[in-house]
Amino acid sequence: MQRVYWTVDLLEAHVIAGFLRAEGVDAEIFDVDFVRQDWLAALAYGGYRVVAADEQADAARRLIAHRRANEFVLDEDDPETPTCPRCSSLDVGDDPVPRRIAWAFLFFFTHLSFFVLPFVPFKWRYRCITCGKRWQALPKLPFRDLARQADVADAAR
Ligand SMILES: [Zn+2]
Repeated sequence: MQRVYWTVDLLEAHVIAGFLRAEGVDAEIFDVDFVRQDWLAALAYGGYRVVAADEQADAARRLIAHRRANEFVLDEDDPETPTCPRCSSLDVGDDPVPRRIAWAFLFFFTHLSFFVLPFVPFKWRYRCITCGKRWQALPKLPFRDLARQADVADAAR
């Protein structure tokens, strides 16, 4: 194992190690539980060291440099936020109205809200900034199916 990255930020170390594992590198944070016992002395312990297998260390360093240079690009063909069904604008935001209705209910009818809130459809509501259209766009796949796909992909590695 070789050190490929170090930081004094535990979360950053987890993000980097997780990123490397997602890219197929056998990476982990060395002595993470020991170092985080005393975060004032974390620097004296050498910080949080992300280590990778010897044969993958160079690839890991390249991936980290690539990531720091912000050279990874999201797939533009599959955006998380949908386009407007009326004007096809990408300038789409979260629709706050259903959430506000739910909160008004919570404020004025506290004793009833317990029964009403689960039925207020405020998830996946979007509003077009350009034309004002409001709509609900359910995710293409439910979380259950995404989790199954991730399990299959993990098993295939
Ligand atoms: Zn629109």
